[in-house]
Amino acid sequence: MTIRTILIHPDPRLKKVVPPVAEITPDIRTLADDMLQTMYDAPGIGLAAPQVGEMVRMITMDCVKEEGAEPRPLVLINPEVTWSSDATSVYEEGCLSIPEQYADVERPAEVKVSWLDVDGTAQEEHFKGLWATCVQHEIDHLDGKLFIDYLKPLKRQMITRKMQKLKRERARA
Ligand SMILES: [Zn+2]
Repeated sequence: MTIRTILIHPDPRLKKVVPPVAEITPDIRTLADDMLQTMYDAPGIGLAAPQVGEMVRMITMDCVKEEGAEPRPLVLINPEVTWSSDATSVYEEGCLSIPEQYADVERPAEVKVSWLDVDGTAQEEHFKGLWATCVQHEIDHLDGKLFIDYLKPLKRQMITRKMQKLKRERARA
């Protein structure tokens, strides 16, 4: 397993609608393992393939937060929201591609999502709470959408400028 480099916003690859995984090849399984390792290492609770520069519809998640609790690594290939609740909830979101920036985002409180696992088996789950927010945030990445796209333009521009500065500093280091 390899820890991949996480792209930092702004990057054109984070703005693209990416195509489905056509076939679950050994390369796709390796990418899934790499993404999980990269996510845990960051550390983060979710990661989408475009964030590591791989333009396919695949995300990883693990929203288990309790100390000492059993981890629950999930790999979702070609995930699709099949139902979302009218009720919404607000979470303070962050993103591994937008380090150290957080903002409240309102989304449906509960969603049903279907996907293929790494064995190609169809799965469906009803997500609530943090899991529901996280899965919607990650699926947004597959459609070129970031959590800052939900913010007012001024706030979004402020965060984008901070990220441009961060990238310049990192490039010089
Ligand atoms: Zn993100």
